[in-house]
Amino acid sequence: MGLTWIKMTSIRYFRCYSLDYYRVYGKTIVRGLTNYGLTCCINALLQSFSVTPELRELLNKYRPAEEAEQNNVPMQLKNTLRAMEDSNHHSSHRDFIDCLHHHSIYRSTEHDADEIFHRILNLTQKQMTDKDLAEEIRKLYEIKVETEVMCKECTLIQKTPNSLSSLPLAIHEGDNTLESCVQSFTQQQPLMYGDECYCDRCMMKQPSTHQLKLVSLPPVLCIHLKRFRNDGFTRKLRNRVTFGETLQMNIFNVGQSENAKEYYSLYAVIVHIGTALCGHYTTYIRPTHDHNWFYADDSTVRQATWENVQETYKGDRTAYLLLYRKMSGGASG
Ligand SMILES: [Zn+2]
Repeated sequence: MGLTWIKMTSIRYFRCYSLDYYRVYGKTIVRGLTNYGLTCCINALLQSFSVTPELRELLNKYRPAEEAEQNNVPMQLKNTLRAMEDSNHHSSHRDFIDCLHHHSIYRSTEHDADEIFHRILNLTQKQMTDKDLAEEIRKLYEIKVETEVMCKECTLIQKTPNSLSSLPLAIHEGDNTLESCVQSFTQQQPLMYGDECYCDRCMMKQPSTHQLKLVSLPPVLCIHLKRFRNDGFTRKLRNRVTFGETLQMNIFNVGQSENAKEYYSLYAVIVHIGTALCGHYTTYIRPTHDHNWFYADDSTVRQATWENVQETYKGDRTAYLLLYRKMSGGASG
């Protein structure tokens, strides 16, 4: 499959230095977000949501009742993402930060971006009065997996379905590729020495194997590189993990029949800077229909390149969450 990408190098960005935003053809495409305390994690996630039009469109359909309270997360998220497109709107996300604070996601606490990603999505779905819309948001990110436990004695396989909204990939000491991390995720693991599983056929605990299988992947795939390891104390793994700007579907070995023309395209990277104890979050984003990258660090935004994004493979400033969008290569052949 040949991917022909139109590189829009001729586009002129208008940058306003006092407010830190970029505009193209009168539309704000990236804008900086003030840090209110320790809100870099929420700011970084907001930047990624703002370049997820699939989510924005669903939120725009949400019509909460007149009396919907100030602390309704889907309403505040919808308002914030709308305001981020409007360069005249100054304190675009303060209400959202306050709303999360009300739901125990505090402004003055350091957060884990993967945890907050889940909590924002969960609160958004839970607090939506329109349950069909909530379901559509869930499906946008839903990764279906199946846990297979096989009894080594009688080979009985017991399957348990499960759903995830981000794919948690363990990192090994040494060099990793995204492909090798996915392989480890779906590798068969022995369960022995006290970890035996109860076998329904043998009617007793038996040595078993455990394996995760990917059943289906969503339109928006969030990959969580598990850089924080707890061996008594939490430390950050700075090892190299390479990932592509596009991913072929076959690396996931998904159970259901794959559409050969589909692939994933990277559009946002949440970056963690610093240590497990003291860190800061920033984002690389690539707004839709535009193959130019931008870098957002709270209120500062600047143009960036794919080479800049690749600098987050290892070290102190590392990619933590990767957001890929499913594309169909049909049009480009
Ligand atoms: Zn058995």
